Amino acid sequence: MRATATSMGACAVTDIAGESVDDLPVASIMWYRRDLRIHDLPALLAALEAGPVLPLFVLDDRLLHGRWPSANRAWFMLECLRVLDSQLREHGSRLHVRHGAPELLIPAIAREVGARAVYVSRDYSPFARRRDAAVEEALTRMGVAFRALPGTLVQEPEAVRTGDGRPYAVFGPFFRKWQQLSRRAVLGSPAAIETVAGVDPGRLPATGEFGFEGAAQEAIAPGELAARERLAAWAGGGIAGYASGRDFPSKGATSRLSQDLRWGLLSPLEVVERCGGHGADSGKFIAEIAWREFSYHLLWHYPRIVREPFQRRFGGIAWANDAMPLDAWRAGRTGYPMVDAGMRELLATGYMHNRVRMIAASFLAKDLLLDWQLGAAHFMEHLVDGDVANNTVGWQWAASVGADAQPYFRVFNPRAQGERFDPGGEYIRRWVPELANVPGKYIHEPARMPPEVQRAAGCRVGVDYPEPIVDHVRARQASIERYRESLRRSG
Ligand code: FAD
Repeated sequence: MRATATSMGACAVTDIAGESVDDLPVASIMWYRRDLRIHDLPALLAALEAGPVLPLFVLDDRLLHGRWPSANRAWFMLECLRVLDSQLREHGSRLHVRHGAPELLIPAIAREVGARAVYVSRDYSPFARRRDAAVEEALTRMGVAFRALPGTLVQEPEAVRTGDGRPYAVFGPFFRKWQQLSRRAVLGSPAAIETVAGVDPGRLPATGEFGFEGAAQEAIAPGELAARERLAAWAGGGIAGYASGRDFPSKGATSRLSQDLRWGLLSPLEVVERCGGHGADSGKFIAEIAWREFSYHLLWHYPRIVREPFQRRFGGIAWANDAMPLDAWRAGRTGYPMVDAGMRELLATGYMHNRVRMIAASFLAKDLLLDWQLGAAHFMEHLVDGDVANNTVGWQWAASVGADAQPYFRVFNPRAQGERFDPGGEYIRRWVPELANVPGKYIHEPARMPPEVQRAAGCRVGVDYPEPIVDHVRARQASIERYRESLRRSG
């Protein structure tokens, strides 16, 4: 899709198939899904170009209670929808809400309002592709157009291709190509939203009605307005020090924009355009946004990765099958402080710092030898930014089974990672309160504390804080051996 202006009045738009949408008939539906904003939203602006619009959200039970149900994400989404509704009202419109299956509801509403087109921002997961194909088929039978426009990514997954037209499987060349491609202009927000009148608006349920009151409530403010404030603070100077500080979880040196990108509260294009001009910090930050795009690129071209490793030669790893270590990992009680701090941050806030995600994920797959998919599912249960593309690719990277992943013989040492990235132990003390008074000398290895130090710190190892549940040195060997076995079996 190409759009050529920053104000909606002057926006000339073509959809991804290159068809002009300027001459579409009046009355259309703007079907919101994971793009809960009004700024820089090509689908909304294109719909408004055609005439009055019905902004609509469908609460789909398959998302609320399906493969990856999450109280944190459901809470965040519902609150974002409330903010979206109030913003739409400020522009003379409102959000309409229905509860059920989109492939039945969208055609029914299109018929009810006499819509001639349904506009959406593209969505890329295998689930979203099946859903959208079913909706499009039903609409096409009725003669209603289904217009899927960009807005979720800076570059569409099909646009970033190697010289001979193939998708990329290595980040470096993907990133170089991604940077060379031209970009559309950032669009503004509409001055007013002319709305199809007389339609029952439906009702957004209170979070409590579904029992969706996640731990994240205290941790992050939902909605486009809060996200725009976070972006303004970040682009206005918060980004300084990102390149050197981003790996240190106690420094708070990252943007905390992941849930905003996940839920489309911010357009990634606008984020990239506003975060330039800060030298190495901008360069590193934009590279991380490009990792997000690379993850979507992989998911789009290889949808099988939600169920199997990108590297099929690692499909035969004999994972362990023990409930005890999995439960200990989930609860943040492995006896490895850096892992435990991350897992407890996740439980308490619905967020975990990137470096600690890598450490905790590596620990599950390599030290505990548990299937990475168990860990990925736990992350999806709790992360407010939980995202099929980023989470799958992040897990496959850490478990050494993905595209451009960490080599299988490189096993993070959780103690050494802690010493390097949380040298003073601030992050650990914050999230593992029973270690709060442990001296710096033992903070990464509390099991080595002599009894009198344990007494003075008020932390008895094996009672207040667990002994390490595995021996890292032996686990590392066992892990490398299992990966090698899988390689041998795959020939
Ligand atoms: P910043 O460092 O400020 O990064 C800016 C943005 O770039 C992020 O908001 C995010 O959109 C993107 N980004 C940063 N790092 C990565 C990365 N490694 N891969 C893809 N995109 C990235 N991110 C999610 O958004 N959802 C997930 O479900 C998710 N699961 C992960 C699971 C594992 C095992 C790992 C190792 C990483 C995962 N990530 C996921 C990526 C990353 O950890 C988070 O995006 C980041 O911690 C969010 O914090 P931030 O916004 O402050 O990041």
